[in-house]
Amino acid sequence: MANTVGVYPGTFDPFTYGHADITKRALDVVDTLIVGVAEHSGKFTLFSLAERLEMVKEEVAKIELPAGKNLLVKPIDNLLIDFANQAGAKIIFRGLRAISDFELEFKLCIMNRRLDKEIETIFLMAGEKYQFISSNFVKEIGSLGGDISSFVSPEVAQKLTNKFEGAKLCR
Ligand code: ADP
Repeated sequence: MANTVGVYPGTFDPFTYGHADITKRALDVVDTLIVGVAEHSGKFTLFSLAERLEMVKEEVAKIELPAGKNLLVKPIDNLLIDFANQAGAKIIFRGLRAISDFELEFKLCIMNRRLDKEIETIFLMAGEKYQFISSNFVKEIGSLGGDISSFVSPEVAQKLTNKFEGAKLCR
């Protein structure tokens, strides 16, 4: 049987339980999932690409892989559609949280389809517990010393604490 390949691209700054939930759901759909860590997403990132790659690798290593499934983590430093083609992926996974995500995701999906009509975007919704989690909220709450333990793993929370402690020392 054919090995179906999908890409789940994102900034993952940082990787949250929401991202982990979408990763697991995407793995139910394809045989090989590549979590693509975007280098240039037009966003300022708290963590460098190298730090995000390491973090995503550590986090996805905790996911129990169903038999016959493969999970890879790679940097994306080119156009997503080119990355997907080079990886032999026919599916791009995106997560949808609230209606607020819809407009941007809709535009991205249409643009990608114009670039390559063979590649389909599939939208997934996280489980109820994770639906409202966003990396931005986690950074905001973490920077103010709030409890982020229900949004990210203890390891990611520690990395955030280290970043914010470092920033305080620089002030
Ligand atoms: P964020 O939007 O949180 O800054 P990313 O750019 O890294 O994070 O997101 C990558 C993909 O994962 C996007 O499609 C985004 O909508 C999706 N995503 C992120 N968090 C969640 C969540 N809690 N539930 C569903 N999808 C999510």
